[in-house]
Amino acid sequence: MPELPEVEAFKRYIERTSLERPVARMEIRNGVVIRGADRPSLIEAVEGSEVLSVRRRGKQLFLELSRGGWLTWHFGMTGRPVALERWDEEPRFVRVKFVFEHGSLAFVDPRMLGRIGLTARPERFIEERRLGPDALDITLEEFTTTFGASKGAIKAALMDQHKVAGIGNLYSDEILFQCRIDPRADARSLSEEDMRCMHQAMRRVLNMAISVGTDFERLPRSYLLRGRAVGSSCPRCGSLVSTATVGGRTAFFCPFCLDRKSFF
Ligand SMILES: [Zn+2]
Repeated sequence: MPELPEVEAFKRYIERTSLERPVARMEIRNGVVIRGADRPSLIEAVEGSEVLSVRRRGKQLFLELSRGGWLTWHFGMTGRPVALERWDEEPRFVRVKFVFEHGSLAFVDPRMLGRIGLTARPERFIEERRLGPDALDITLEEFTTTFGASKGAIKAALMDQHKVAGIGNLYSDEILFQCRIDPRADARSLSEEDMRCMHQAMRRVLNMAISVGTDFERLPRSYLLRGRAVGSSCPRCGSLVSTATVGGRTAFFCPFCLDRKSFF
């Protein structure tokens, strides 16, 4: 599932390929992706418009339309943007296509959990959805206030888009691994030092993932994400990595590193 670094990569990709190209036609191949949106208004807003700029909040993108309004793009589990030139073969699972005079921008989504909609302003959308601050913008103070008062497992809290926007299953594991915090730990039980560590690790991990183009093979060897799989070993101590279900997702962590926390 695309998290903040992947969506940031999508943003840059759209900026590189699709800005200021008038949309001649919007093809909706599968209405599921635009569920909740009004089809005629969507088409009216898009056709004849150009995308002027792209903004991101967490895992959500906003594409500014030259004739007013903003498209909202969420990638769900398997969505991604694909820019096509006229001679390119179209990939499978194109759900919506923005056709330019030459070429197009496609929303490809095999599982169709992604969503495209329309909003007057990104701020309004963010308010309606009660999206938290972006994980790269939240201050240590805001972070500590939010998570210090949050009930339940810290991993589930980190993945809660109302608290901080952009973190999902994979990056929450990495942040907690780097801070030697048990993903099941009650958020309120964590120390100020833990909060500071998580806040710093979050920025470091997300920026690192962005800088390597979200290619986990290029992450530092010390990162859990490089080999996060059942039966893999901890990149720090070599012990077998454990899993647990937290917030409906599978958490990967090293129990030995947690136990030894006080020794380091
Ligand atoms: Zn370990």
